[in-house]
Amino acid sequence: MGKIKNIYYLDFDGVMADTAKECINTSFFSWFRINKNKKKYLSVTKELVLKKALKFRYLVTLPEHYYCLIDLLVEKELKNEEVNDNDFEKNFKQKVACENIKTLNKFKTVFFRTRKERFSKKPNSEWLAENPPTKFLKKFKELIKNYNSEVIIVSRKDKGSILAWLDEIKLNFSEIYGNESLENFNKSKFFLIKNLQQKQNLNDAIFIDDSPEEINQEDWKSISITPILAGWGYNHLEDNTNQVLKKIKEDLR
Ligand SMILES: [Mg+2]
Repeated sequence: MGKIKNIYYLDFDGVMADTAKECINTSFFSWFRINKNKKKYLSVTKELVLKKALKFRYLVTLPEHYYCLIDLLVEKELKNEEVNDNDFEKNFKQKVACENIKTLNKFKTVFFRTRKERFSKKPNSEWLAENPPTKFLKKFKELIKNYNSEVIIVSRKDKGSILAWLDEIKLNFSEIYGNESLENFNKSKFFLIKNLQQKQNLNDAIFIDDSPEEINQEDWKSISITPILAGWGYNHLEDNTNQVLKKIKEDLR
């Protein structure tokens, strides 16, 4: 095992793009579409809910989780209750586990439709302002441009949304594996990357993700992957952009 070219597997949300604002705006509108007949919600202050939702973005791993996030925060606001961090995390996990599957599926459909509508209505510059590239990505792009490297995106987002964004960013990538591709690998990024690594004869590669579960629960070494936890993403870790860039600089050859 060695290295012929530099291969980077990158997660999208949090690692490449700061998409929290867009996801939360889209979720908020989707949530209201689902609950449109409930007049009591008219008094809810959008800004307040959005601000709190941004803070808890790190709890979300699937689009339907946004439903639970917004729902909990709206209820809290209506009752004028303070949001306690620890309790909220617990309430959120409980809600994700117990929420009606039909409601979650309905939300998911509305969420993707709403995103499409918002995207088509906004000028690209505005859309990008809601989804800015991370500081890491800007520097990473510069860093790798003179090397024989391959960027493979592995995300739980849908491929269409990522493609539209990359059109604006102009990053050379070789493939995008979104939510749809993960379905074939038991929803596991590890199994998907393992499959790709085997096709590449297990050449050394780097995988960067901002989800501690994604990074910590697998035996990445067994497939010649150096896993890196992105502290600049949606988690409670410290921003390690510069350390990671340094590591990549050393890795390039
Ligand atoms: Mg992520």
